[in-house]
Amino acid sequence: MAPASKVQTGSACREPRPEARFRRACRLERHSEYQGLVKHTGGCHCGAVRFEVWASADLHIFDCNCSICKKKQNRHFIVPASRFKLLKGAESITTYTFNTHKAQHTFCKRCGVQSFYSPRSNPGGFGIAPHCLDEGTVRSVVVEEFNGSDWEKAMKEHKTIKSMSKE
Ligand SMILES: [Zn+2]
Repeated sequence: MAPASKVQTGSACREPRPEARFRRACRLERHSEYQGLVKHTGGCHCGAVRFEVWASADLHIFDCNCSICKKKQNRHFIVPASRFKLLKGAESITTYTFNTHKAQHTFCKRCGVQSFYSPRSNPGGFGIAPHCLDEGTVRSVVVEEFNGSDWEKAMKEHKTIKSMSKE
C-alpha cells in the first residue's frame, strides 16, 4: 500500500482494484465458534458489496471526530484482517485516501456507502460499520468517543485501540 500512496493527491479517488487482502479466507472460521465470536454479515446499500466478519456479539464501537469521520459520521469496530472476508464486490470498491494515506477509506462506487474500511489506527485490520450489519447477530453496543481531531495524542493515550487488529 505505502509506495503507491506517495503519488496520490489530497483528494485522489483511486480506481478500484481487486485486492488480495479482501480475498483472504476466513481462517479463524472454525475455532472462532468456541472463542465466543459470532459471524456477522453485512454490506453496502445497493448490495454490490457483501462481507462476513467474526466478532463478539457485544460490539465496542469507536465514534471518531477526525476530519473525515466527522463528515461521514463514521462509527466502527475494529477486527484483525483474518476475521474479515469480502464475499462479493471487490470490483465495486473504490478507495479514498488523504493526509498520511494510511487509512484506506473503501466504499461502494455505486451507492457510496462505506460498510468497512482500514483505519489509520489499525492499517492491518478492518473497521466495520455496525450500522451496515444485517440484523440478528448484535447483542449489545458500547460506544466510545475517540478524539481523532487530535489523533496523535489520542492514539498515544489510548490503552487498547492499537492492538485491536492483532490476532
Ligand atoms: Zn453499493
